[in-house]
Amino acid sequence: MTNYYEREFETLPREFLEKLQLERLQTLLEYVYEKCDFYHKKLDESSIKPADIKSLSDLKKLPFTTKQDLRDNYPYGMFSASMNDIVRVHASSGTTGKLTVAGYTQNDIDIWSAVMARSFTAGGCSHSSIINVAYGYGLFTGGLGAHYGSELLGALTIPASSGNTKRQLQMFKDFKVSTLCCTPSYALYLADEMEKEGYKISDFSLKQGFFGAEPWSEEMRTQIQERLGIKAYNIYGLSEIIGPGVSIECEHQCGAHIWEDHFLPEIIDPETLEPLKNGEQGELVFTTISKTGMPLIRYRTRDLCSLIEEPCECGRTHIRMTRIIGRSDDMLIIGGVNVFPSQIESALFSVKEIEPHYMIIVDRVNNLDKIEIQVEIKDELFSDEVKNLQNLKNLLEKNVSSAISISAKIHFVSRGTIERSQGKAVRVIDKRRI
Ligand code: ADP
Ligand code: ZN
Repeated sequence: MTNYYEREFETLPREFLEKLQLERLQTLLEYVYEKCDFYHKKLDESSIKPADIKSLSDLKKLPFTTKQDLRDNYPYGMFSASMNDIVRVHASSGTTGKLTVAGYTQNDIDIWSAVMARSFTAGGCSHSSIINVAYGYGLFTGGLGAHYGSELLGALTIPASSGNTKRQLQMFKDFKVSTLCCTPSYALYLADEMEKEGYKISDFSLKQGFFGAEPWSEEMRTQIQERLGIKAYNIYGLSEIIGPGVSIECEHQCGAHIWEDHFLPEIIDPETLEPLKNGEQGELVFTTISKTGMPLIRYRTRDLCSLIEEPCECGRTHIRMTRIIGRSDDMLIIGGVNVFPSQIESALFSVKEIEPHYMIIVDRVNNLDKIEIQVEIKDELFSDEVKNLQNLKNLLEKNVSSAISISAKIHFVSRGTIERSQGKAVRVIDKRRI
């Protein structure tokens, strides 16, 4: 096999896919009820027995699991498998608080490798790809997740990890790297450094990249694709569910297919917790239906998006999700208005003079919330006429204000001023909390 296309699962007609999901869900519920005290208690408290779940629509009867549950049962209390069968732990990078731990059996590592290998294949990789894994290796799932998937695919795997950018670029050239895995912000940083070091796209053999672990926009995709000369695919995942490879875009780049034979998605209203219809935007919730180490029922990801049920041209029948517009917990409330950093990003990047690096600074002055956005612009613009710079600033302020419905101040800074991240980018400084 030259790639890892599991046709029999990936193109399974919906009717059969849903049958498989129900069987797996029922088996899983029996399993966690028996093996995991936390779920035994939780189901008892909701007066639900595994046998009460007779169809997929019964899913909504089940209680939710939250990040707080994982924290309360730190470190091993959410595991269903016995400790002897757990072969690996990861922990989330803690973007929003204390560590949350995930445990994997060998079965889970195999599933994870398979969904990652499928994901690489969906983005055009094969056993002849040379995959540079520039996600961090360690407790963070990015590095090892991509690594195992790449090896299962049979690709040449380079465990570069993040950082040491000059060496990465050297390897791109000398090792003839075809495929890049890293955060989208690091991809842009690599593009900057590439230009600085005097490399041209033609020095490399790059074909595609798999970018995720943080929200990014279509405008950022365009920049990455143009500056690195590749196709850029959005890959999504979270350590609690498995890690990267929960969903991936196919070559049509029109939403990420969720590997639904393993992860059952729902969208709920984060306020009322009621299920929403496909196409409606809300919080993404997952039930893992094949994992044995730490299966989760109706896990609230806090990530906001919607599901696309229309069939995809690639032939895969698995539902797609839109980009994550933010997490319900990274939403900023500025002067009472809900603002997501991703809305600001899209508004900024619609203007071509803008470098893809920005920082949103929120402050409260005289009891009024103020928002300032530092944006990098090309150095030559600073020597431009003041009038032009002022016009550009006005245009950006207008775009941003109409995107977020409140006014924002734009402040231009020179290239390289905003600190670059080699992992997840920090885009917001909220001084109101300090
Ligand atoms: P955490 O960031 O919570 O410490 P993880 O390292 O497991 O933990 O990161 C998972 C989170 O990263 C997801 O819940 C989501 O918010 C974000 N994420 C991952 N992939 C993407 C993506 N492609 N687009 C947007 N956000 C993403
Ligand atoms: Zn597709």
